[in-house]
Amino acid sequence: MGLADLHIHSIYSHDGTASIPAILKYTSEKTDLDVIAITDHDTLNGVKQAMDLAPKYGLQVIPGCEISTAQGHLLGLFMNNRIPAGLSLIETLLRIGEQGGLAIAAHPEARGTSSLSFEDIRSALDHPFARQILVGVEAFNGGLIYTRSNTPAVVNSAHLPVARTGNSDAHILSMIGKGATYFPGTGIDDLRIALKSHQTHVASFGNLGASQVITGYVPQFLLRLLGWTIWNNDPSEPLKYARIHSLSTLSRNRAGDLYQQMTS
Ligand SMILES: [Zn+2]
Ligand SMILES: [Zn+2]
Repeated sequence: MGLADLHIHSIYSHDGTASIPAILKYTSEKTDLDVIAITDHDTLNGVKQAMDLAPKYGLQVIPGCEISTAQGHLLGLFMNNRIPAGLSLIETLLRIGEQGGLAIAAHPEARGTSSLSFEDIRSALDHPFARQILVGVEAFNGGLIYTRSNTPAVVNSAHLPVARTGNSDAHILSMIGKGATYFPGTGIDDLRIALKSHQTHVASFGNLGASQVITGYVPQFLLRLLGWTIWNNDPSEPLKYARIHSLSTLSRNRAGDLYQQMTS
């Protein structure tokens, strides 16, 4: 069986705290994950760097994005072109499908964040084309502050024709892999087949919760606001803090190439 975490945020999200190389270093050394997806909010700016570096760290990376649809957050996977935020769920699904991608409903009906309702999900599954794209639901999201929001996701997804997935929704390194998805095989192609045939299994290894937000996330986020992120220069070197002057503008898609900036 392979293990995947299909929902990870980097500093290319406005609320992420870890650089792409740090995510790869941490994942390869501290988790059993075979596959990860980088799913920053409404941007794919970190994806190319992640895919370029992944082989050095012995990992496989799926290009993805957490898209803010008009009805709530949706994970687009196997996609390389950005889709604007604010479109309807159906329109967003069709655009993901046009580029050969698949989608997973992120943290459905979770409190405190923009989430799809199960009514929205069911109506998409009734749509003749959208249903071929919306192949999965997060039955476990490790990044919720209100951890009880996972309960309706488990109950309501049990009766739907979808793959049930677990993901971390990590915004800090230590959360990566806390939610994960088992699938037959070990590679990205195996995972794609498993998602389409609903042969995935949910794994939960921990929650963020309110206390972790205070002790884990808030300090990292404050450092980010000051321009510091966790960095890794090479798989053989340790994680360290690096100052990046353009951090505050990264998520606005106009900061230039962070990767080049740090390696030049
Ligand atoms: Zn979300
Ligand atoms: Zn997220």
